[in-house]
Amino acid sequence: MSTYRDLSAPIGSRRTPVLRTVGTRERRSHLTAPRVPTVGIDIGGTKVMAGVVDADGNILEKLRAETPDKSKSPQVVEDTISELVLDLSDRHDVHAVGIGAAGWVDADRNRVLFAPHLAWRNEPLRDRLSERLSVPVLVDNDANAAAWAEWRFGAGRGEDHLVMITLGTGIGGAILEDGQVKRGKYGVAGEFGHMQVVPGGHRCPCGNRGCWEQYSSGNALVREARELAAADSPVAYGIIEHVKGNVADITGPMITELAREGDAMCIELLQDIGQWLGVGIANLAAALDPSCFVIGGGVSAADDLLIGPARDAFKRHLTGRGYRPEARIVRAQLGPEAGMVGAADLARLVARRFRRAKRRRAERHERYERYAQARRATRGAL
Ligand SMILES: [Zn+2]
Repeated sequence: MSTYRDLSAPIGSRRTPVLRTVGTRERRSHLTAPRVPTVGIDIGGTKVMAGVVDADGNILEKLRAETPDKSKSPQVVEDTISELVLDLSDRHDVHAVGIGAAGWVDADRNRVLFAPHLAWRNEPLRDRLSERLSVPVLVDNDANAAAWAEWRFGAGRGEDHLVMITLGTGIGGAILEDGQVKRGKYGVAGEFGHMQVVPGGHRCPCGNRGCWEQYSSGNALVREARELAAADSPVAYGIIEHVKGNVADITGPMITELAREGDAMCIELLQDIGQWLGVGIANLAAALDPSCFVIGGGVSAADDLLIGPARDAFKRHLTGRGYRPEARIVRAQLGPEAGMVGAADLARLVARRFRRAKRRRAERHERYERYAQARRATRGAL
């Protein structure tokens, strides 16, 4: 992530074709998009989730695969995606494919500029896949996709100014205004996790120190618990016993589970995370003034143990408190499938009414073209 600055300058100056490539189809709203089933794909650090989703956000079928290792070529990830899509299209009419990727997607939503878990560096994913799958493809950031899903079908329904914060290993973020995802000029808006909240604080993999996600995320939760356990602190005896002394076995879900059972240290750690969450949200409210914050991601499973302290801290840190309307802070409703459902629903914006027969025809045509090309090549060689 330290390449951020190097990346943004040259790519920014190459931005002229954006408006042309975004084109008319992108201007379609979800209200006029065809009510057809589409495939949503969520590419995370460990797994790829793919599902057929109908126009009301219902998942008709879902498949999973392992995320190919970072050392593998980008081609391998594309293979995984197209295998999943072809498998699903055997049983469903697939009219478009939406991809939510953990990484930076450029403003015309074609290239993945950078993905921390994958080998993608400035990868023209949309064009490559739409060529291979012969259906329209849409690529977006996973947090944007999740926010879209929560706005359409989940906790954010009816909100016209919504900010989503996903607490996973780090912090993902997205801004939705009047039914549109705000992506910024270069497509990488909403990186709230790397706002500095503690000058000179914990080192972050992004290269800076004291980033918000170093204080309010699954990684922060686990780091603190492991630190206490490694120091053999009396407050950590409960969790040390739970992992039989293997401090490295401590995980976020385990801390949440123990907190629910009443373990004082685990409750306190979630409170700390929640407080930092509230402080960051107060800052975001000062800058963006939304009506609703939706909190998603794995850590949000702790529910009120996390969101209660977040609400308190938010009220204490909000600028002009007492004199300005307060945004609601709610837990996301769609769980780990939000990214997949959102990617599928966003894909309906670019969907064409495809019939399976038409797709088969397209595939046949593609096969024939390849065959003809190969023949031309061999003839050329002779
Ligand atoms: Zn950072």
